[in-house]
Amino acid sequence: MRFDLVTIFPEFFAGPLEHGIVRRARETGIVSINVQDLREFTKDRHRTVDDRPFGGGEGMVLKPEPLFAAVEKLLGHEIGDAVSKVGLEPNTAIVLMSAAGKKFGQDTARRYAGLERIIFLCGRYEGVDERVAEHLATEEISIGDFVLSGGELPALLVIDAVTRLLPGALGNEASSQNESFAARRMETPDAARELAEASERRPSDAAILLDFPHYTRPADFRGWTVPEVLIGGHHAQVKIWREEQALAKTRRNRPDLLG
Ligand code: SAH
Repeated sequence: MRFDLVTIFPEFFAGPLEHGIVRRARETGIVSINVQDLREFTKDRHRTVDDRPFGGGEGMVLKPEPLFAAVEKLLGHEIGDAVSKVGLEPNTAIVLMSAAGKKFGQDTARRYAGLERIIFLCGRYEGVDERVAEHLATEEISIGDFVLSGGELPALLVIDAVTRLLPGALGNEASSQNESFAARRMETPDAARELAEASERRPSDAAILLDFPHYTRPADFRGWTVPEVLIGGHHAQVKIWREEQALAKTRRNRPDLLG
């Protein structure tokens, strides 16, 4: 899978892509990541990427021309040109990072993991000329209900969430099937019954739950001991405990998921 990042701060990405799973996925060729400096697509001496907003008001807005030119160079063809309009490859998305976008979630990450290429457009200042959202981006995505100063961190976050879902990236495939936000069916009757009681579901329905709590050594840390059931080595008991705990934690921290 290929990711392109279009940004006015290319150096921003130097560190975050060089650790852990994302680094390994790059080294093994599962993903390739290309950082594209937006200023390369300016034509004036000052390499201007922004301008004042029509209609007045605070701040600056990223101009459309460099963003269109950057994407067109990356794709090798023009976009939004009525004369020579070429369709996008079906497995390519052009994602505008935007506080006013649709909310990103694990479901979006799974859908993106099925694509071949994602081009991220990172906004700055007051945002991006709306024609980019209308005629260039295929999606406008927000990572949450808060406003950041740029789209670079949001794009990195999406790359991380998508990369770890790609086959071979985690090393242990089970990890991404059995974690927070994965749809799961309770396998133990007690947990299934509790789930049915906590939400309006049948015991056999799948639910989106948070992960169960994890513990490692020491078994006694400052007097706080690890739950006994995890030490006993009784796998069926551990399974019941984990399902019940996942449910309890979801009720406590994210009751909205059980809705
Ligand atoms: N005026 C805009 C905020 C601009 S913040 C508004 O009120 O919605 C500058 C840039 O940061 C945006 O263009 C976007 O690329 C990025 N950004 C800020 N918050 C974001 C979020 N929650 N999700 C994704 N991108 C975000």
